[in-house]
Amino acid sequence: MNNDLSAVLFEENVIRMRIRELGTELSKVYAEKNPVLICVLRGAVVFLTDLMRHITIPLEIDFMGISSYGASAQSSGSITVKNDINIDIKGRHVIIVEDIVDTGLSLRFLIGHLDILSPASIATCVLLDKPEAHKIDIHIDYVGFEIGNDFVVGFGLDFNEKYRNLPYVGILKEEVYIEP
Ligand code: 5GP
Repeated sequence: MNNDLSAVLFEENVIRMRIRELGTELSKVYAEKNPVLICVLRGAVVFLTDLMRHITIPLEIDFMGISSYGASAQSSGSITVKNDINIDIKGRHVIIVEDIVDTGLSLRFLIGHLDILSPASIATCVLLDKPEAHKIDIHIDYVGFEIGNDFVVGFGLDFNEKYRNLPYVGILKEEVYIEP
């Protein structure tokens, strides 16, 4: 385990098994629908690449970048689009692929942003959800794992752009991100 972590929450094989289940479910629900998976950069990249390989039906992928926490472990509250999607999603079935839901504000922003482009449907698929941290009432269609209020890294999730390459999800020690 990386020395900056206090614990490993989900080992690589556990994540892999859960993503396979999600892929199987999405393959059934979206059969004949040719969905567009919209990956939220950069944290969801690892999740997307694993998830899409467990989806057995035709699909397309696209990417969206929104402002993130930057070097802080606290939400900044204001969200802006950094990179928009390229595919025309009018009449398409969209699945937003996100790494983690904390307050829920990013996901609500993304849904609103994509909804005005008139897709046939929008679903949300997140690897990790922190239900106790939600600040708004938000429905998530597909959740990998529910977790507590710890700040986690690995499997695409970063702190200050570090730890994305860890193959597991772990809890970052508070001393790493809380100023003394
Ligand atoms: P929300 O808008 O739901 O508060 O935050 C969503 C975004 O905050 C995520 O996409 C992620 O970038 C960041 N975030 C929230 N909680 C965590 C966490 O525990 N670890 C990391 N690495 N990022 C987090």
